[in-house]
Amino acid sequence: MSASHDTSTKKIPSVTAPILVNLAEAEVMRALRRQGRISRTEISNITGWSTAKASQEIRSLVNKGYLMEVGEGVSQGGRKPRLLQINNQLGYIAGIDIGATSMDIALADVTGLILRRCSESTDVHLSPETVLARCKELLLEIIHEQGAVPAQILGIGVGVPGPVDFARGVLVAPPLMPEWENFLIRDFFKKTFTSAFVVVDNDVNLMALGEQRAGDGTGVDHFIFIKIGTGIGAGIVSNGKIHRGSDGSAGDIGHICVDKDGPLCTCGNKGCLEAMAAGPAIASKAMEAARNGSSLTLRQIRESRGGVVRPEDVNTACREGDQASLDIIRDSGQMIGDVLASLVNFFNPSHIFIGGGIANFGNHLLVAIRRAVLQRSLPLATTHLSIKFSKMASNAGVVGAISLALDYLFAIEDNPHFII
Ligand SMILES: [Zn+2]
Repeated sequence: MSASHDTSTKKIPSVTAPILVNLAEAEVMRALRRQGRISRTEISNITGWSTAKASQEIRSLVNKGYLMEVGEGVSQGGRKPRLLQINNQLGYIAGIDIGATSMDIALADVTGLILRRCSESTDVHLSPETVLARCKELLLEIIHEQGAVPAQILGIGVGVPGPVDFARGVLVAPPLMPEWENFLIRDFFKKTFTSAFVVVDNDVNLMALGEQRAGDGTGVDHFIFIKIGTGIGAGIVSNGKIHRGSDGSAGDIGHICVDKDGPLCTCGNKGCLEAMAAGPAIASKAMEAARNGSSLTLRQIRESRGGVVRPEDVNTACREGDQASLDIIRDSGQMIGDVLASLVNFFNPSHIFIGGGIANFGNHLLVAIRRAVLQRSLPLATTHLSIKFSKMASNAGVVGAISLALDYLFAIEDNPHFII
């Protein structure tokens, strides 16, 4: 935390999110949120205000403790301008990314700078009370390590692996985790973190947001983020904004039918993309290859693991030159690519970013996905299309969760639903 060089903050207010500001103050906060550290002159350029008006608004925000002066910018001749940023002493933001088998938790300051983070394996088949209680425990631990207290948490973004009714912040008919249906995740965290604004979204939407705010998706207006793990889902960024659809279920591509005679999916239908190509399907095909003798490598792995083959073992076997494993990975890539081709024709993104545990499978998977997309999409839709792995790895989800919570940190006083 870089508080030591803060010499200008008048006070550190005790606040509860959302922090209400007037329209003029909102313009300054919005500029600082987008640009990070900027000078008074830049604020007056962005807002179109006179230097006097900009100075007056800035003074008011510094007096309230929402802004602070930090260091000096580059001189344009004459004195170096003092830079302003959102007061990083205002409080903290937590990002929680719950996947089917793991949880990542991060603590950031109100500028979005991650200060601490931790990860742990989990199982969302357990009850929401059990999984969220552990999340809360881990969050409290890193808050304590930071020397902070729960009342200083002003925002919590939570990502969960299922369809989320965004307005209510609840999961609706989540195939992987039926016990979580309608569980009040926001209320659960509000009981402990009473000053925080809690916002819940689908995990892949948050990964897409993370990619947009801190990854290669920065400045890209139309892209799809695909998560391939225990399930398969997509986060859609359209015109620079997350597209959640009418009820929040947009991007749930894992349940698009690939083969109506295929295996039963967790959603109750047959042959969904997820049931055919995600982690469990890869593991189950590998088990079959180990059983029927088409792969000696997978058979040895199964024996050494007490009769089980995990998806990551298929990747290891593939790297060792096992043909059956390579075929399994290529098959998955082909099926995912076929579905993506339809999305490309429908939505015309300029970029597709791939993340999630299975994304670690490397080039064989990526090549198969690319080939299928290029074969089946319209030439105009693929002229400028880039398909690549997300470089953010496991960070995309927590960065997205923190970014979403930050979107709700300040609100207009006359209209608290109008976020900055
Ligand atoms: Zn399904």
